[in-house]
Amino acid sequence: MSDERIVFRNANLIDGNGPARSGSSVAIRGERIEAVGPDADIQSEAGDHEISLGGLSLMPGMVQTHFHSHFGAFGDGVRAPSLGLEAAPPYLSMLAAKNAETALLCGFTGAIGSSNAHVIDVSLKEAIHAGFVRGPRFLAGSREIVTTGEYSDYANNRNFFMQLGETGLTFKADGPEGWRLATRIEAGRGCDVIKISAGPGHGSSPATDIIYPTPEELRACVDAAHTLGKKVRAHAPSRISILECARAGVDIIDHADRIDAECIEAILEAKSYVVPSMLWSERFLEFAESWDHDASPLPISEGFPETPTEARARIAGVRADFEYTCEAMAEAARAGVKMVVGDDFGTPIMPHGEYIPELELYVKRLGISPVDVIGWATRNGAELMGLGDEAGTIEAGRLADIVIVDGDPLVDIACLGDLDNLRAILLGGTWAKNLLEPNA
Ligand SMILES: [Zn+2]
Repeated sequence: MSDERIVFRNANLIDGNGPARSGSSVAIRGERIEAVGPDADIQSEAGDHEISLGGLSLMPGMVQTHFHSHFGAFGDGVRAPSLGLEAAPPYLSMLAAKNAETALLCGFTGAIGSSNAHVIDVSLKEAIHAGFVRGPRFLAGSREIVTTGEYSDYANNRNFFMQLGETGLTFKADGPEGWRLATRIEAGRGCDVIKISAGPGHGSSPATDIIYPTPEELRACVDAAHTLGKKVRAHAPSRISILECARAGVDIIDHADRIDAECIEAILEAKSYVVPSMLWSERFLEFAESWDHDASPLPISEGFPETPTEARARIAGVRADFEYTCEAMAEAARAGVKMVVGDDFGTPIMPHGEYIPELELYVKRLGISPVDVIGWATRNGAELMGLGDEAGTIEAGRLADIVIVDGDPLVDIACLGDLDNLRAILLGGTWAKNLLEPNA
């Protein structure tokens, strides 16, 4: 790379820390931001590559913190949950490479893996590092550690007769020593974030107030992971699972549908991050509540036959959870819980690439200001990746992970959802996309 600087002029700067500042310049040298300030304050140097943005917005790259790398084998059709058994592992790996590139080209310069099969996330991360797959900075997720007999124990729930053994996506463990061993195995394979199943619910089923692992199992997992420098993330929609996960020191609470004041206190104490991931619930309800259950069964089922009455009761439970979460999550955000963005993209009616409607939901349904939601997507996401001092804001010395957008996301956050509006994306000072200079 040459030593020539890229200098953006006349930007509407959204630095991740406050209101937009028009007439700003950002100078980039190598992989880092060298200087930021009003246009007049940033002096030109011989050899600068200057690009006038004419008032386009310049903001930090976003972080997709609940990234199921190989989901979406069926496209956006309506099917059962992804288990990592939908297609051969090589096919799923190629899908993961495609999804990683999609996320980057949607302005996500970071991603954190959730449950995945066949150690695909670790290979994906290594392929990105090696440079032959294009994707964001990435922390690899693990298989999902589950307990015997729970909802996600696909080998031993009502599918027991299939004799599935371990499904691709799940890893069964029982007892504190079992959970410690499972965590160490996943860590040893190179996973950065250990995913666990802590409680039922979210999206297509209500959050019954139970928890799957014991407090001892949770603590053994967290202790083993933290000792090895890894994080733990938990599927935790039910109140008791949120509470016990926070008390055990789980780093990332996924979904958190039934969060309440006691949970909030424990989460603040543990400094855990919450992934509200509410788009999947909203999309499911749109679909399920308009379905004629008497004519045919809902295609997004729990995998087992249910009567129309049972289906309606399940959907009503999801609706009650969703309405509750809209209030409770906004309250948690006001209380200072660190929120990040990410959802179950690649599951039915949620294709990879349609990431921005999730951010819109938080503005429209939770009443969070766009500047705060951008902060969740950028600053908080980078902090969660361990890059709190390195990325997530536009400041001198930070990595040049940058999105340039035609529109003002602080006025209309939806502008980020149109790929034509994303005029340029830089990852560590290198162009991932550049429509600013058609002949460059
Ligand atoms: Zn998920």
